[in-house]
Amino acid sequence: MAQTLDTGSDVLWARIRGVLRSEFGDAAYRSWLKPITLRDVSRNSVTLSVGTNFMRDWIQEHYLARIREIWSQENADVKTVEVVTFTSDSAEPQRTETRLQPSPAAPAVHARAVGPESRPAPLDPRLTFDNFITGKPNEFAYAAAQRVAESPTVPFNPLFLHGGVGLGKTHLMHAIAWHIRKAHPDRSVLYLSAEKFMYELIRAIRYKDMMDFKERFRSVDVLMIDDVQFFGGKDTTQEEFFHTFNALVDQNHQVVISADKSPSDLEGLEERLRSRMGWGLVADIHPTTYELRLSILQAKADAIGAMIEGGVLELLARRITSNVRELEGALNRVVYHAALVGRDITIETVQEVLADVLRANERKTSIEDIQKTVASHFNVRVSDMHSARRARAVARPRQVAMYLSKQLTSRSLPEIGRKFGGRDHTTVMHAVKKIEELCATDVSFAEDVELLKRMLER
Ligand code: ADP
Ligand code: MG
Repeated sequence: MAQTLDTGSDVLWARIRGVLRSEFGDAAYRSWLKPITLRDVSRNSVTLSVGTNFMRDWIQEHYLARIREIWSQENADVKTVEVVTFTSDSAEPQRTETRLQPSPAAPAVHARAVGPESRPAPLDPRLTFDNFITGKPNEFAYAAAQRVAESPTVPFNPLFLHGGVGLGKTHLMHAIAWHIRKAHPDRSVLYLSAEKFMYELIRAIRYKDMMDFKERFRSVDVLMIDDVQFFGGKDTTQEEFFHTFNALVDQNHQVVISADKSPSDLEGLEERLRSRMGWGLVADIHPTTYELRLSILQAKADAIGAMIEGGVLELLARRITSNVRELEGALNRVVYHAALVGRDITIETVQEVLADVLRANERKTSIEDIQKTVASHFNVRVSDMHSARRARAVARPRQVAMYLSKQLTSRSLPEIGRKFGGRDHTTVMHAVKKIEELCATDVSFAEDVELLKRMLER
């Protein structure tokens, strides 16, 4: 980016910082405002930079509106003020997606574009292998992703990553893309969400550009589509994806797919697509364990460099069990809070600042968790929990899951029925009775149910 600073802007920026300091106070000024650098001033736009995305987001949320206001009071020509992340190892500043106004800004880092029309999703610079903490629940998926990124040939096709929300699927896909971009700049990598794929397809159909669409998606070396559960029920999109997928695999080009469920559990997808997606390597990211959560928190806390009292990270790891995204969010909140009030992070601060999150995590067992755990315990599909099949082999596990839903969640019988393929509340009631009876008469069955309960309460 061109440096077009002149002393006039520097003086103006110094004055604006003075105003900010008196408005927000010394502590906030030192933590958040002083580190901002004035990078670029053109006639009507100003670019500020900071060293981390974390700082950038915080400034955006809390100070940018005010900075912009002051600036336009000083100079009415200035229409946009934006904050970017600028580190010494990034050639281009990483812009945020939210802007005050749309501006013809420099592009963020993209996976190599494969055609003038294609605008692949920007890759997030934080989502690399280096920043991915591994543990039991994700080590297999991590190893598989690394294999795909490092292997000179296609090791398995496709790589299918699946797991619940916020467990690192997108992170691993971006990491693959970053690695290949760096190690093999000549290979074209295209990463996009399933939604975006559909959007591009609709556009191609509307503008009668199908030749171009096919050419674009079928000529890449590595195609990554995130969150394909989105294709459920969208037949035209599935059809086109199926052909794209086959064309790539036939040419021995790598395909990486992610979804929130395993191929066999994806709903609303054509059978041939589901089975095809399971042909390569299917890698499951399991829910986090306490150990993994603690390692992730330690790594993130180190990266932020915050002063954190002993026991705080352990408390967060023990109490926030939903997913990594929420864990990160919780840590960020306490760090922000502590920085603002200028105190260290203590257990009391955490309990105060995160009261709502901690409460929400108390009732952590969801019916979906129960269905998943029970299905895998009895070796049936999660979709059998919703299906109309009455065979004992699936009906019994389904009853167990209904029983546990009643025991472990605060959902009502009709609510539980709805989650099991729209069954009636009397069916749930019957299931609960049936399982209670069985537990009373069959010791080993009772033990099974008890084990499941303990696993779910974990
Ligand atoms: P998903 O795509 O599975 O919903 P994401 O990949 O978006 O989840 O992960 C959510 C957030 O948690 C991201 O900020 C990501 O960087 C972080 N995250 C997830 N797993 C890990 C991990 N093992 N180590 C470090 N960060 C992680
Ligand atoms: Mg994702």
